[in-house]
Amino acid sequence: MTARILDGKAVAADIRSELAARVAAVKEKLGRPPALAIVLVGDDPASQVYVRNKLKTAEDAGMGVHLEAISGSASLADVLAVVRRFNDDDAYDGILVQSPLPKTMGATAEQQVFDTIHPDKDVDGFSPISAGRLVQNRDGFAPCTPAGVIELLDRSEIPITGQHAVVIGRSDIVGKPMATLLLHRSATVTICHSKTRELPSMTRQADILVAAIGRPAFVTPAFVKPGAVVIDVGINSVTKAEDARRIFESHPDRIATFERRGSVLVGDVHPDVAEVAGAITPVPGGVGPLTIAMLMANTVKAAELRSR
Ligand code: NDP
Repeated sequence: MTARILDGKAVAADIRSELAARVAAVKEKLGRPPALAIVLVGDDPASQVYVRNKLKTAEDAGMGVHLEAISGSASLADVLAVVRRFNDDDAYDGILVQSPLPKTMGATAEQQVFDTIHPDKDVDGFSPISAGRLVQNRDGFAPCTPAGVIELLDRSEIPITGQHAVVIGRSDIVGKPMATLLLHRSATVTICHSKTRELPSMTRQADILVAAIGRPAFVTPAFVKPGAVVIDVGINSVTKAEDARRIFESHPDRIATFERRGSVLVGDVHPDVAEVAGAITPVPGGVGPLTIAMLMANTVKAAELRSR
């Protein structure tokens, strides 16, 4: 069997085009489009790529967007001061501080940022207020990646109610909110993590398997029940030739990409899983574009709430 490919890029394009009328309505009411402030600290190359994509997507959607780039040698207090300034600035509806922050800012730096962003501008959905609203199934901002996965399942007409969903990963930004959203949609949910025993036998029970681990090609066909829906959240850059050749043994096009660029992207799911699964998200072109589309949707929602 070869799995149906769940085209996140196409679904993300639909979501963005549906936002156009709402962007125009906000502009009419506020005299400006919905606007997002992005804070980038330091010069992590992957973060720069993510931020560039977010800036371009917001601009293409006719939204306002401002990049505040802060030196990696700045203090956490400096970053929090910038966040407070955007909290008080009526020109912005949403604030996003790109992760990761420099390690020198300490282990709790990101939590302190999440505590500081005003809940009405928390378009990433990472603040404790947003997390609490999500757990209680109240209206609010759900984290963009898991919210995007739900959109993808719905728009691909994949039923969730009553299905057994297994989520590998329990982070605050992906695993936990993913499990919560699936639970609210009446899936039976199992959460697995690094201490889970007999992981493949747990994941083989999944009708819907979500991998959010951060380990390249970790989920092999042995983890997957034939016909299951597999959502690959992971984005990993493979930079060693032997790893690229091993993972993409039967995918010469991806090995060619590696040889051209010196690196190739792979998810947390091994490409051979496509031979077992019923449906699967590709990497790239699966969950990644949905995350950015949902960030735009959350920013439009924040602007609508402010313009009421
Ligand atoms: P974290 O590192 O915060 O969490 C990883 C989770 O995976 C942890 O809960 C960890 O368990 C679990 N885990 C690690 N090793 C194993 C193992 N051997 N067996 C079972 N579970 C394991 O990562 P994130 O949640 O932030 O991100 C996960 C992946 O998703 C990454 O590849 C990241 O790049 C990608 N990502 C993609 C996005 C997108 O837009 N597509 C957006 C955000 C993230 P434990 O808690 O026990 O340590």
